[in-house]
Amino acid sequence: MSALLPLNRHVKGASKNADPETPAPSVQALQRAYNSSLLELVEKGNKDRKVKAQQRQKDGLNNLDYGKTPFGEDMVIVRKFSRILAHVPLAKFKKWAPEIYKDLDRVDQQYQQQGLKILVFQPKCYVSGIGLKQWAIWLSTQNIKKSLGGSMASFDTILDALNIAYALQHNDYHDAIMDYAAYRLCLGFRENLFTVHKGVDKDIQASLRQLAQVFTPSSANSMLEKLFKVLVLHYDVDGVMARDVYPSAINDHVTAQVFGYWQHKDEEALPRDPVKFERLEEWCKPYHLHSKEEVCWIIKKSLDDKC
Ligand SMILES: [Zn+2]
Repeated sequence: MSALLPLNRHVKGASKNADPETPAPSVQALQRAYNSSLLELVEKGNKDRKVKAQQRQKDGLNNLDYGKTPFGEDMVIVRKFSRILAHVPLAKFKKWAPEIYKDLDRVDQQYQQQGLKILVFQPKCYVSGIGLKQWAIWLSTQNIKKSLGGSMASFDTILDALNIAYALQHNDYHDAIMDYAAYRLCLGFRENLFTVHKGVDKDIQASLRQLAQVFTPSSANSMLEKLFKVLVLHYDVDGVMARDVYPSAINDHVTAQVFGYWQHKDEEALPRDPVKFERLEEWCKPYHLHSKEEVCWIIKKSLDDKC
């Protein structure tokens, strides 16, 4: 409002030094003066904003030239509607999500106007923004612990991540989440994936009961459901007998297996405890989505690290 002050001063002055021969300004004249002063103010504001916007654009382009920001033709923008969630290096996208990369056909309009061809990934189906961001972190780093926020992510987070993997049909990401889920449930999947520490039974039972509170079977988490049932069978039959600890899908399945075992005493017919697996293939076959012909993401990652 400071720009309006001269006008106020002018009006005050006019009344103080009133010249009897000079007629007082009419209301219309004052209104016109006020309007033009206001117009000046608005125009100045517009001009300032335009200059600032041009400066920002210039800075952005300069940064592009020097590679100071993650924007560039070697990055993919991950977007949910108009919100940019992450930037993933194009090479990582190509290597770790080739099936999604080949469907990338969108180019960011804003950068195209500036002569740059920057690819955009925007999921065609509904996914949570947080989950999408976690997926982008995994694509960039292949560090599932980092992308899910540490070693003790909530089971809600794990289930949401599995929904993203299912929605994007991204098998490697699904398999990485399954490895994390196994780690999270068993706490013993440490340096060596299948080495457990003493007293792990109680930890597994507590984790299974935590998962029971949020678990709802769905196509997205069918592998997790499989692991859940096997671990309940091996570590918490008491919880199944209590009837109100686990969802009915888990209870009914495990109860049938236990009765079957009592009837036939055939231990071979029971699914093996995954904590006792010794080889990666034993884990991949029942709990990973990749086929026998495809290389497990764990092997791809270890080869990558050696390069
Ligand atoms: Zn595998």
